[in-house]
Amino acid sequence: MSTWFDEQITCPGCGLEQTAKLARGIHVSRAPEARDQVFDRTFHRVTCRGCALRFVAARPLVYTDMERKHWVHVALAGETPRWPEMEKLASDVFERAFTGSPLAAEMRDGFRLRLVFGIEELREKLVIWRAGYSDAVVECAKLQLIAKDTSLALAERLLVDEIDDAGAALLVVDADDKLIRQTLIPMSLLEEQSDDDDRLRRYLPELFGGGFVSWRRMTSPRYRAPMTR
Ligand SMILES: [Zn+2]
Repeated sequence: MSTWFDEQITCPGCGLEQTAKLARGIHVSRAPEARDQVFDRTFHRVTCRGCALRFVAARPLVYTDMERKHWVHVALAGETPRWPEMEKLASDVFERAFTGSPLAAEMRDGFRLRLVFGIEELREKLVIWRAGYSDAVVECAKLQLIAKDTSLALAERLLVDEIDDAGAALLVVDADDKLIRQTLIPMSLLEEQSDDDDRLRRYLPELFGGGFVSWRRMTSPRYRAPMTR
């Protein structure tokens, strides 16, 4: 099965309709180049033939990497408030893919199932996993940063850009995908807790239960509502 299809898209700048080669899903075993494109931010990036605007052709898709055991449901960036229902959908799609044979059930073991909103959030997960860290630990570290600097909670997205010896470079992004500023999750915050640490699981069970592993779980109105009753 092919990965890339000619699809009709409309330029958000000038409205010109044109065709572009887009993926309906990313399956790394079939199209390893797609993973590289996510890392270097060229995936689904289109240059308009009319006005030369560069934009990302956004569409929901599923990213799978059988070798690394990654299964990421990529919803549209603007749909974050719908995470409770999207999380269930992502889980249903995943379960359906691995039912039917004992072999499929065996393959299912050890998969990391995640729900993200937009390609940048997919990229963030891949950057964290490539560096050998747990995304739940990173989200926990973000919450610790927010506790120290509450202005961070106003960001639409807090995205890990790269991880090096100093820590995780964090992009603070607004609802229009504009970069507000950059900050750093110090390495000490990442190293002092591990995914298997029971204390972390007990302290923030929400980050370890479902596919939406994100600090937004703790700040969205849907989460807060039952707490203020
Ligand atoms: Zn255009």
